[in-house]
Amino acid sequence: MMWKTHLAFGFLVGLFLIQFFRPQNQILFMALICLASVLPDIDHPNSKVGSKVKVIGFLFEHRGFFHGIAAIFLFSILSYMLFRQFIYAEAVFYGYLSHLISDSITHEGIMPFHPLLKFRIKGLIKTGAAAEYLIFLILVIFDIYKVIHM
Ligand SMILES: [Zn+2]
Repeated sequence: MMWKTHLAFGFLVGLFLIQFFRPQNQILFMALICLASVLPDIDHPNSKVGSKVKVIGFLFEHRGFFHGIAAIFLFSILSYMLFRQFIYAEAVFYGYLSHLISDSITHEGIMPFHPLLKFRIKGLIKTGAAAEYLIFLILVIFDIYKVIHM
């Protein structure tokens, strides 16, 4: 999916979780969810995030390790080590997970257990096609609705 669809979905997930977790630093919590929601595409040299660190895209298969469950835990642990609070590890966990869930409904799909298993979950959505733009639009409407009704 496009980075903006991931961001719109990650932001929505964050808006729901912020009411549930009630973090002390709400801005940091939301920033981490949003960052984590676009982070997996670091493995794609032409993506918004990956183009900043092209080397990862050349070393790792796109939608391989960085689009799997192992990477969710890796980045959640890194976040915990950085902030020393479990809540910010959770922010990264759910933001990252939101990316994998939305990629799993695309044609390319994801391999959640990569590199252990090549088992792939996939759906019918083509990245960048009209259906994705519709999903993006619906997410933005939900985002705005949720912000207004917080
Ligand atoms: Zn992706």
